[in-house]
Amino acid sequence: MEFGPYTPYVTLAVVGLIAGWLSGLLLGGGGLMVQRLADQPVDDDHQEDWHRTMLLLGTATDAELLDPALPADALLYRLFHEERVRVFAPQELRFGCRCTRERVEKLLRSFPDAEVEEMRQDDGLVVVTCQFCNAGFRFDEAQLARLHARRAH
Ligand SMILES: [Zn+2]
Repeated sequence: MEFGPYTPYVTLAVVGLIAGWLSGLLLGGGGLMVQRLADQPVDDDHQEDWHRTMLLLGTATDAELLDPALPADALLYRLFHEERVRVFAPQELRFGCRCTRERVEKLLRSFPDAEVEEMRQDDGLVVVTCQFCNAGFRFDEAQLARLHARRAH
């Protein structure tokens, strides 16, 4: 989404209606998210655009956010039609992590031997768990020796 000719810094996503039956009640939820892109300057013009965006966003009603018949594009236009709405093609989101065994090996090679030794579990293995995807990479004695040998050369 783009606001004005010089302020292409706001993205907006409409969270679709989440509905379900619970105890005979139909529950629903909706929301809007505005995000300032990290590479945009924070000068007075952008601050004013941001403030105006927040004011317009504040005019969204619960009924609009919960209306399953109101498409996200229509809501965007309703709220921001004076700001030159431009909708980009949706992108499919999927979870992904760039961790690989090779990256973990490179990381382990960067540690001094003493620190790698401290990482050993009671069974002698070193297990590195990715903080993002929780993947586990296990290194046994022979694998650790190979890493050490590669580092030595
Ligand atoms: Zn990962």
